[in-house]
Amino acid sequence: MFGYCGKLLYVNLTDGKLEDRELSEADAKKYMGGSALAARILFDMKAYAADPLGPDNTIALMTGPLTGTLMPGSGRFEIAARSPLTGGFGVSSAGGFFGAELKRAGYDGVVITGAAESPVYLWIKDGAAELLPADGLWGKTGADTMRAISEERGEKNCRTVCIGPAGENLVKYACVIAGSHNFAGRTGLGAALGAKKLKAISVKGKAQVELAEKQEFMDIREKILKTLAEDVTAKSYSAYGTAGTMQLGMLVSDVPTKNWRVADWEEGSDKLNGISVAETILSGTKSCYACPIGCKRVVTIPDGPYARENAVGPEYETVASMGTMQLVDDIEAVTAANELCNELGMDTISAGSSIAFLRECYESGLIGDEETGGRALKWGDPKQTLELLEMAARREGPGALLAEGVLRMSEIIGKGSEEFAVHSKGLEAPMHDPRAYHGLALAYTTSPRGACHITHADLVAEMGVYTYPEFGVTGGYDTISSKGKAEMVAGSENLGMVAGSAVMCMFVIWPLSIKREVLPALNAATGLGWSMTDLVAIGERGWHLQRAFCNMAGMTAADDKLSSRALKPHLEGAPTGLDKVVATMTSFSPPSLPFVKTVANAAVGRIIPVQKNVVKGLGRLLFTKKLSAAEMKKKESPDLEYMLREYYTVRELDREGRARPRKLAELQLSDVAETMFPDGAPRPTA
Ligand code: SF4
Repeated sequence: MFGYCGKLLYVNLTDGKLEDRELSEADAKKYMGGSALAARILFDMKAYAADPLGPDNTIALMTGPLTGTLMPGSGRFEIAARSPLTGGFGVSSAGGFFGAELKRAGYDGVVITGAAESPVYLWIKDGAAELLPADGLWGKTGADTMRAISEERGEKNCRTVCIGPAGENLVKYACVIAGSHNFAGRTGLGAALGAKKLKAISVKGKAQVELAEKQEFMDIREKILKTLAEDVTAKSYSAYGTAGTMQLGMLVSDVPTKNWRVADWEEGSDKLNGISVAETILSGTKSCYACPIGCKRVVTIPDGPYARENAVGPEYETVASMGTMQLVDDIEAVTAANELCNELGMDTISAGSSIAFLRECYESGLIGDEETGGRALKWGDPKQTLELLEMAARREGPGALLAEGVLRMSEIIGKGSEEFAVHSKGLEAPMHDPRAYHGLALAYTTSPRGACHITHADLVAEMGVYTYPEFGVTGGYDTISSKGKAEMVAGSENLGMVAGSAVMCMFVIWPLSIKREVLPALNAATGLGWSMTDLVAIGERGWHLQRAFCNMAGMTAADDKLSSRALKPHLEGAPTGLDKVVATMTSFSPPSLPFVKTVANAAVGRIIPVQKNVVKGLGRLLFTKKLSAAEMKKKESPDLEYMLREYYTVRELDREGRARPRKLAELQLSDVAETMFPDGAPRPTA
C-alpha cells in the first residue's frame, strides 16, 4: 500500500500480548486514517460501553496517509478513546515528530486494550515491539521520562509520547505529552493511559513512506510550500505564533476574560499578545516535522521570579487560559504556568478554566476556606495559579476538586454554579468566545468531543479568512448573527474530519485549496484515487461515526448545549463595537493577479504588527458604522436553539440527536445503524 505501512499494532496490556494486524486498503479508502479510522476501531471495540478509566477502554493512536512524508504539517498523530472527561468520544491531536517516526518504525497506528499491573512502556523499533517495565519512570515529568527512555534504549533520536504525574493521578484533563512544544491536550486521554499504567510509547525507525506518484507528489508539495509562504495567516503564525492576533480578538470580545465575565480587557491583551512576546522575551521559534511555518515559540526570561532560558513559549490558548481568564497580565508568569502544565501533563485550557471557575465560586461565596484549604482565592494572583496547578496534578487539597474539570466541579458545588461552568459535553470551552462569532456556539455544541475550536474550521470561516466551497463553506457570514451558520458549521466539521484523518495540521490545511492541493497530494501519496465527493463523504462519515459513538455512550440531543454564561451578554464592560471593522480586515482577500497579489500580501504583512491600531483607526474613520455599547450588548446572544434546529436538518438527525438510519446507510455505515437501532426502528437512547 502506498502512503501507508498497511499495519496496525494491537497491544493487550493485561496479558502483554502484541499482535500485528493488517490495515486493509478498503478501510484506508473508506476512513483514510487518523480521527475517522480511530472512530471506526473504537466503535467496533464497543469502547462506548467501557469505563473510560477501566481496562475495557480502548485507546487508538493513529497516523494518516501523509504522515512521515515531506508534506508540510504531516508529522502529527491523533489519539482517541472513550474520554475520562466527557464520557463521549475523546480525541486529540499533537504535532512534533512522533507521528512521522511511528510510520518510519513500520506502523500506521497502535491500538491499546487492557491494563498492566505495574507501570510499563511500549518500545517500537523497525517493525518490532515490546513492553518494558516503567516503575522507575512513574512520577517523572514528560521531559525526564523522554530523556530516561532515550538513555535506557541507547537511542538518542527516538521519539516518545508519555504522560506526566497528572495522567498517573487520573486528572480528568491530563494530556498526552509528545515533545517540549507538543501535546494532545484535550479530553483527558493522559488519564486513560494512566489508568492502564502505560507511561510511554517510544519509537524509532528508518523506513521511508512509499509514495504512489513520487514526482507528482513533490510537485504538489512545492505548490503548497508557495501557498504557505504567501499566506498572511501563516506569516503571522511564523512571526508571532498563535497569539499574534490576540489584540484583534480582544477588540471583538473574542478573548475570554475573568471566567467569561469581562467583555474587554485591553491592558491585558496588550501585554500578553504574540507581538509583545516577540518584542520582549522571544528567543527563537520551533517547527514540527516538515513544517515551514514554525508557529512554536521559544522564550528566555533573563531574571526575576520566572527566569528561564530557551523555555517553551505559551500559545494563544494558554496565554488566555492562564492570563486573561485569571486577570493575569504578566507574560512571564503565564510562561511559568504553561511550563508547569507541560511538565505535569495537563491540558492548559481545562486547567486554566477550572481554576478560573473555582476563583469565581470563591468570590461569589459558593465555596469558602474549607474547600480551598484556607486559601483566599484571588484574581490576578499568578503565584496562586502555580500552586493550584501543582495541587490539581497531585489531587491535593483543593486540587482534588480542580482535577475533575468544571462540569463535575459544578455538580459537586451546586448552588447555581453550573451557569458559569463554561463547557459543552464536559469539555471546557477553548479561548474563543461565541458571543463574538455566533457559529462557535453551535460548533462547540456539536463537536463530538465537546467544546472544541480545532476539529473544525468555524473560526476562520466566520472571520472570512478562508472559504471551502467544496464543503459548503462559502463565506460572507455575519459574525454576530446566528443566521446561516448551520451549513457552515457542518461543512467546516467535515473539513476538520478530513484534516484529522489525513492527519494534517489545521494551520497548514486552512490556507490550502482542498480541491487543487490537498486532494491531489492525497492521491499522489496513496494512489487511492479519491474524488472530491469521496473526501467530503469521509469527513461526513467520520463525524457521524463519532456522533454514533457518543449516542451509544448515552449522549442525546439534551447534551447538545453550552453553558449560559457564553450565550448571554458579558456581565462586566461592553464590547468595543468594532466587529464590522475587524471583519473587514480579517476577510480581506488580495486580488488574484499574481503581481498585485504579491504586493497586496506584502502590504498586509506589514500591517500585522500594527493590526490593532489599523482597526481602531478604521473604526474612527467609519465611526457611523461602529455600534454603540448598548447595541453591541444586544447582539451578544447567539441563538443556539435556532442554529441547532437548522443544524439537525442539515445533518439529518432525529429529535433525540441521532442520525437517521437512512443517513447512516447512505454513508455506508449500515452496521452502525443496526447497532444503534437493533430492532430496525429508532429506539430511545439510554
Ligand atoms: S503550523 Fe505550527 S503546529 Fe502546525 S505543523 Fe507547523 S509548527 Fe506544527
